[in-house]
Amino acid sequence: MLIGQFFGTSAAEGIPAPFCQCEVCRQAREKKGVYRRRRSCFRLSDKIMLDLGADAVSQCEEYGDITAVDHVLITHTHDDHLNPHMMMEAFWSRKDRDGPLHYYFTDQAFDMVRHWRENEWILKGKVPEWEHDGVVAFHQLHYGQRTQVEDVFVTPFRGNHKGNVGENTALYLIELPDGRSLFYGLDSGRYLPETIEALREHRIDLFISECTAGASTISYPGTHMGIRDVCDLTNTLYRQGTLHDDSTVWLTHINHRTGHDQMLKAAASMPFPVKTVVAFDGLRIL
Ligand SMILES: [Zn+2]
Ligand SMILES: [Zn+2]
Ligand SMILES: [Zn+2]
Repeated sequence: MLIGQFFGTSAAEGIPAPFCQCEVCRQAREKKGVYRRRRSCFRLSDKIMLDLGADAVSQCEEYGDITAVDHVLITHTHDDHLNPHMMMEAFWSRKDRDGPLHYYFTDQAFDMVRHWRENEWILKGKVPEWEHDGVVAFHQLHYGQRTQVEDVFVTPFRGNHKGNVGENTALYLIELPDGRSLFYGLDSGRYLPETIEALREHRIDLFISECTAGASTISYPGTHMGIRDVCDLTNTLYRQGTLHDDSTVWLTHINHRTGHDQMLKAAASMPFPVKTVVAFDGLRIL
């Protein structure tokens, strides 16, 4: 069953950020609701999560437990997207159940699994035992290679942002069972030419993009994008037919320099080629 819910829409610091008293964080503490953003994470379906990061406990408290989830697709190994402790929780909660919790890492990101397997300081050195007991299973995906996960097909593309083991991020193209395609492009940086080229042969209906630098015109090309970069990108993808008139763009992974109202104004004022929505925690799109 498709769910398509943003469990979190912030950048790494969260909003309100714990050590910050800026106006955006102050407003989030006071008003909560859409002004608050937890670390980015997306529930694609009852069975599939995209990332399971630093705020998973409070997200599951608010949006429902993830008991039914069997697959977690990891975009990259930064801590705001990947919380290894959740595997410990899976061990306690799922050990009497059939089938492991499957984690997917793309290309070099799989080095993180090797690190866990070999390091007894990580998760009490239990990772090999959990794999042996069938509590968790790790899978390595490859850029450009299409893989079936439950009832969807997943193809990762190379992002322009480096994770904790020096890997490039995985930007996921997901073919949904109803025929639509969803793209989850978080921590992408400004797209690599090879990724734009590879997307030329795909049509994307639902396009989720990082907009880490928010409405700011500051740009971090090899790390993150702001709204101007996302606008340029979506125009490029529209011109080459990857996005079409009925596509929708959602902006997420937004840092604490831009508040929600300011994001709405910025999104409305930019020349996006298709409908563009500022995501917020709890928003459902499928
Ligand atoms: Zn991030
Ligand atoms: Zn702040
Ligand atoms: Zn990152």
